[in-house]
Amino acid sequence: MTITIVVPCYNEQEVLPWSIAQLLSLTDRLRHDTGDEARLMFVDDGSTDSTWDIIAQAAAKHDGISGLKLAHNVGHQNALWAGIEQTYRECDATVSIDADLQDDSLAIIDMARHVAQGADIVYGIRRRRQTDTWFKRTSAQAFYRIMRTVDRNMLYNHADFRMMTRRAAHALMQYPERNMFLRGIVRQLGFHEAMVYYDRTARTAGESKYPLGKMISFSVDGITSFSTAPLKFITFAGLAMTLVALVTIITALAEHFSGKTIEGWTSLLVSLWFIGGVVTTGVGITGVYVGKIYTEVKRRPRYFI
Ligand code: UDP
Ligand code: MG
Repeated sequence: MTITIVVPCYNEQEVLPWSIAQLLSLTDRLRHDTGDEARLMFVDDGSTDSTWDIIAQAAAKHDGISGLKLAHNVGHQNALWAGIEQTYRECDATVSIDADLQDDSLAIIDMARHVAQGADIVYGIRRRRQTDTWFKRTSAQAFYRIMRTVDRNMLYNHADFRMMTRRAAHALMQYPERNMFLRGIVRQLGFHEAMVYYDRTARTAGESKYPLGKMISFSVDGITSFSTAPLKFITFAGLAMTLVALVTIITALAEHFSGKTIEGWTSLLVSLWFIGGVVTTGVGITGVYVGKIYTEVKRRPRYFI
């Protein structure tokens, strides 16, 4: 079997030489252990440092290494997509892994074994993440928990480290949407699945390219591309408010007929603000979806090489 290892890289000059060496020795082990031929595909996601020079040099030196240079930074998910789209036809399976190899690359050997036994999609699942900072760990865990409540299919602690056979990748390519949340979509493909467990290690060099801001927008993206739970929540809130309003009308009428007049200025002002706030929030959440429809409808190309 031939395997292409797709590695998205964004400003990874610090770790890349190490990662390339690691992955090259992995290809040797694969050849030795399972008899599989692996190739490396590095996708430069519009890096502004010397990442591309490192890839180009490695590609010139080794036959099994190639590079894909995207014209500008399109984000991890799109870079991954680009790498898979450009390679899946020429190999039996593609596997995606982050450039910092925080996800144990040796797990690829187990993945290859699962594919040999008939699996089409093999998910890498993080067993422990002791080496992450406390903040990264809790925020990531919270992210998975929220995703799980809005989308039952979501795998806990699975990042984008997975192997897919050609037919699974081909199926994935049929999804035309632009708001890409790969780990959600892949679960909808429905081929034979398998899991491989590994420990997540620390970054050997360089910094995380997922600071808090990006992580939050990634979560919001994941939730709004995969579920209408926030919209349902507004509906429930609306229903509850109607119920409260009904009770208020009845009591107000009762008070009116019993001859009591209410000054009511304070309560009026308070409810005015309250309703205003709720409505605005609702409009805001709806706006997120409208924004997504807007970008989907435009059908812009995902990347240029
Ligand atoms: N990455 C990318 N484009 C981006 C941001 C990140 O291709 O705009 C890549 C990055 O080079 C790495 C992977 O996505 O290979 C995951 O990033 P990182 O390791 O920084 O995230 P973390 O492990 O901290 O979640
Ligand atoms: Mg990382």
